[in-house]
Amino acid sequence: MTNPRPRLEPGRAPAQSTRLLVALGGNAIQPAHDPGTWAEAMRQMRQTANVLARVARRGPELIVTHGNGPQVGDLMREAELGASEVPAPPMHVLGAETQGQIGYLIAQELSAAFQHARVPRWVIPIISRTEVSVRDPAFRSPTKPVGRFYSAREARELRRQHGWTMREDLGRGGWRRVVPSPRPLRWLEGDAVRAMFAADLGTQCVFVVSGGGGIPVVRRQGHWEGVDAVIDKDRAAALVAHTLDVDTLAIVTDVPGAALDYQSDHPRWLGRVALDELIRYWKRGEFAEGSMGPKVEAGIRFLRNGGRTFLISDIRSLPRALAGRAGTRVEH
Ligand code: ADP
Ligand code: MG
Repeated sequence: MTNPRPRLEPGRAPAQSTRLLVALGGNAIQPAHDPGTWAEAMRQMRQTANVLARVARRGPELIVTHGNGPQVGDLMREAELGASEVPAPPMHVLGAETQGQIGYLIAQELSAAFQHARVPRWVIPIISRTEVSVRDPAFRSPTKPVGRFYSAREARELRRQHGWTMREDLGRGGWRRVVPSPRPLRWLEGDAVRAMFAADLGTQCVFVVSGGGGIPVVRRQGHWEGVDAVIDKDRAAALVAHTLDVDTLAIVTDVPGAALDYQSDHPRWLGRVALDELIRYWKRGEFAEGSMGPKVEAGIRFLRNGGRTFLISDIRSLPRALAGRAGTRVEH
């Protein structure tokens, strides 16, 4: 199925017909350093939703995806603590739960923000599954940080007690659990959402899709089976962007963009960058694995697959980043 919309000619104002995918960081919903309460998460989402409503008012078709690192980590911890009374759900079920939690939060706040800003659009979260390969090497070497930060002593204890793989997060000082993060191969609900865009529902609906990278599933004897892993939402965002033929992919996180020498005392924040330049920085390891690395990798993949504009910014700067005045921006 092909997308019937014409691509914009260079030089013409990207007003009505752009298709924008915004990927919200799990930490932008509930900061990993300060887990806070759900009431706080709702307030944070309200601010995010107001920004998204301002963006949608300018006309682009909008699709939202989101991370779930902190949330899925909380549910895992909850399952561990409650295991003596309630059977602990497998990790893929917890992934589905986070799509429900966060999808609900986004639906609540974004539909209210739309109403307030007089943007006539429905918000529709879609439980999304992502196909991965059973042979993905990630199953043998976990890299994806989930859940809260722990001290070195707590980390040792959790490793001993539950066999968790723990890794130090050098940027933010602390230890986190890491889980397998296989590559996303296919978004199972993608064809259905494409069909809705082809029926021109993209201007009336904002679909919230592939939350937490999608629930990882593998094909076994004619059935889909959930597996214990957490897909990186940035990699999955590139897949969603490709499936829906979006023009602009904006990854919203808790820093204003990507930086060189990030670990040093003088990080150099990247503004407008050429694709081959970004690839060079990426290859020399400027962007940490499991955090900024997958964002940049997603951007490279997106642009190579025919995307036009790739952005990394924080939520406050998103409207300015879309206008070319903030964030890290790569055009193709
Ligand atoms: P999200 O939940 O938004 O995906 P992540 O923690 O996965 O958030 O990624 C954002 C983090 O990436 C930043 O808070 C920062 O600490 C880290 N990071 C690692 N390398 C870089 C870099 N080169 N430039 C900017 N941020 C970086
Ligand atoms: Mg992340």
